[in-house]
Amino acid sequence: MSHIIHRSLRRTPPVAVGGDGITIIDSKGNHYLDASGGAAVSSLGHGHPDVIDAMHAQIDRLAYAHTSFFTTDAAEELAARIAYDAPGDLDHVYLVSGGSEAMETALKLARQYFVESGEPQRRLFIARRQSYHGNTLGALALGGNAFRRKPYAPLLMDVTRVAPCYEYRDRQQDQSVFAYTAGLLAELEMAIIAAGPENVIGFCAEPVVGATGGAIPPTPGYFTGVRELCDKYGILFIADEVMCGMGRTGTLYAIEQENVLPDLVTLGKGLGAGYQPIGAVVARDAIVQRLRNGSGVFQHGHTYVGHPVAAAAALAVQRVIQRDCLLGAVTVRGATLRRMLRGAFGEHPHVGDIRGRGLLWALELVRDRETKEPFAPSLKLHEAVRAQAMACGLMVYPMGGTIDGERGDHILLAPPFIATDADLGEIVSRLQEALDTALISVGA
Ligand code: PLP
Repeated sequence: MSHIIHRSLRRTPPVAVGGDGITIIDSKGNHYLDASGGAAVSSLGHGHPDVIDAMHAQIDRLAYAHTSFFTTDAAEELAARIAYDAPGDLDHVYLVSGGSEAMETALKLARQYFVESGEPQRRLFIARRQSYHGNTLGALALGGNAFRRKPYAPLLMDVTRVAPCYEYRDRQQDQSVFAYTAGLLAELEMAIIAAGPENVIGFCAEPVVGATGGAIPPTPGYFTGVRELCDKYGILFIADEVMCGMGRTGTLYAIEQENVLPDLVTLGKGLGAGYQPIGAVVARDAIVQRLRNGSGVFQHGHTYVGHPVAAAAALAVQRVIQRDCLLGAVTVRGATLRRMLRGAFGEHPHVGDIRGRGLLWALELVRDRETKEPFAPSLKLHEAVRAQAMACGLMVYPMGGTIDGERGDHILLAPPFIATDADLGEIVSRLQEALDTALISVGA
């Protein structure tokens, strides 16, 4: 019996004992192709020697120093690197241990910005119904998954939620993309007005939606409109790039492809590529200057802020991405993966949509392609896909529920940036087998 409180309290997963390139090996000697990078984490695959060397070197020098007493070269160099690579005046970095901590930090930084601006009445965040921002109470309150929020509802802050940008299901057949996008922006504006703009802190969204909904890019002009509304009403735009950032979509920041500058960006997952737990918030100059010229203190902190080994790992990851031109590789291999997925699943009777950007792709599963009717949640098709994929030696990231847990199943793919065309071909062919077996197993 395992003494770990696993997510499923009835099932202990296989024991991972090794990793090499895009493969993970379990204690029984089974090999799994890591087609999801865990949960869009392992962008460099497993066992990358440059990252391991950098971590060893840092541990040999210094494993830990508390930030009440010291900063470290590793943390300073990583922050400088992030600030240098980030667009515009996103120049200030707060290093944490993961995506949820990054989100909490962004919420607090945004709130303190307004407190120090003499607007303490601002307390409301607006987010979207199709989103995941983490599992701590603040991040959970923002997220669109009603079923994840439900047990904790009395503990969560009020959040106003608006429609996501989800063209596949929500754009009417006779509606132009422009009209659809304008409608979404009108809804956001109405939400700001209804709340009273003077009460709103910020709007938070994933530039490319990750796990809840599956690799959904925005429609053209959507985020330009978001930025304009935020400017018009003086509220902050927080881009959650925990999943879609750090090169996953082919640019270091997914929002760069929208030509929009957020006020705060959160990072996690691909920042350290799984070699260490690390996340970050990147803030525009005006926000940090306001605090610097006000109280002079950011009222926040965690024991492992700026952890030097995590910082050294993340710095090495970022250097490898640049040295090996992996952003270009993501774009090229992403196009290959798209071609392969369309070839394999384009006519599949139960694949309603194939979408994504860079090396973040998803298949949305439907009972009926014409009506887009999802499978009944009680079938737990996504669970069956995960199990069958593992049996085929494949890790994919299937999720049930796209909006507030009500709209069916999808499968997320986020292979390491180092995957070859042959790896991608093998991933797609194993996925075909796993999906068809899973569909049979649930009686579809
Ligand atoms: N934000 C997004 C977009 C995510 O996908 C996730 C995790 O999946 C988080 C935040 C939370 O990150 P973590 O699980 O590292 O706390």
